[in-house]
Amino acid sequence: MTQKTALVCGAGGFIGGHLVKRLKDEGFWVRGVDVKFHEHADTVADDFMIGDLRDQRVVREVIDRRFDEVYQLAADMGGAGYIFTGENDANVMHNSATINLNVLDACHKRNIKRVFYSSSACMYPEHNQLDPDNPNCAEHSAYPANPDSEYGWEKLFSERLYLAYNRNHGMECRVARYHNIFGPLGTWDGGKEKAPAAMCRKVALAADGGEIEVWGDGLQTRSFLYIDECLEGSIRLLRSDFEGPVNIGSEEMISINDLARMVIDIADKPVDIRNIPGPLGVRGRNSDNRLIAEKLGWAPSQSLREGMEITYEWIKGEIQRQHNQR
Ligand code: NAD
Repeated sequence: MTQKTALVCGAGGFIGGHLVKRLKDEGFWVRGVDVKFHEHADTVADDFMIGDLRDQRVVREVIDRRFDEVYQLAADMGGAGYIFTGENDANVMHNSATINLNVLDACHKRNIKRVFYSSSACMYPEHNQLDPDNPNCAEHSAYPANPDSEYGWEKLFSERLYLAYNRNHGMECRVARYHNIFGPLGTWDGGKEKAPAAMCRKVALAADGGEIEVWGDGLQTRSFLYIDECLEGSIRLLRSDFEGPVNIGSEEMISINDLARMVIDIADKPVDIRNIPGPLGVRGRNSDNRLIAEKLGWAPSQSLREGMEITYEWIKGEIQRQHNQR
């Protein structure tokens, strides 16, 4: 039997790095591409190319054959501190849209059928996410569109791009809307980190009896999906007959202050929470997993607490490692 091949765009990133490993474990020959190597682990890809996917010539070199599976995860992104300040809007829109336009068209010209695209829950309308206790993120609620960030608008545009290639060019692209993926080997400092990693870092660095800062009143709600569940859902979707868009997320919604309390409890440290003004995003967001359950017969199974325990230990270890190197 010939070995299956996969391309992971954004392989130097958090989800892409984990995905390369998962596909290798399944026996694939894997090419990864990114503008940078992974910051927290050596890649296990058979071939890792450093290249800028905004450049069409680079994209043609990367997509130089017919891969069985392509995962397009490369994007200019970050946490609330990057996406919601407005300062990075032009880059976020231009860079991510250009990557998607280039990669998808190169796949089409190589007669590659299956391309996975990672959209985001950030494309859901702001007006459905004002009540922190009852956000509506059912897939069909996406229109009329009203995302609260340019990051979300670019995701919406690109979702439509992939589905248009399905309709007009006979491709079989699959579109997922990720809801806050977290776990080890993710960004945990520097401004692009997301809430789970930021909480773990803050608590790990806090002194006993000290306090951590949490943006907003802390009553804003979110759900968070552990990385292994995200990979499982993504791979199942790509290999299914359902094109999406479909949520890949957890339905275990929690307020940001409660997330901070969970980490404080995991760390077993006496630390207080101080709520301060900061970039926030929508008031409430939760995954709605009815469609993925119906179409793929799948739902994530791990609790938030289990994933946070693993993530806290990893970030604590990274901080210790950095400290020892100084
Ligand atoms: P990440 O930032 O760790 O990975 C993205 C990777 O893309 C980075 O390594 C980056 O260097 C690379 N990249 C950026 N510009 C590039 C370019 N011009 N050429 C080549 N590579 C480039 O992010 P992630 O958390 O792994 O997210 C992966 C995908 O999932 C992204 O598309 C993101 O929008 C989407 N997503 C993630 C989450 C989440 O919670 N992590 C939520 C919703 C959607």
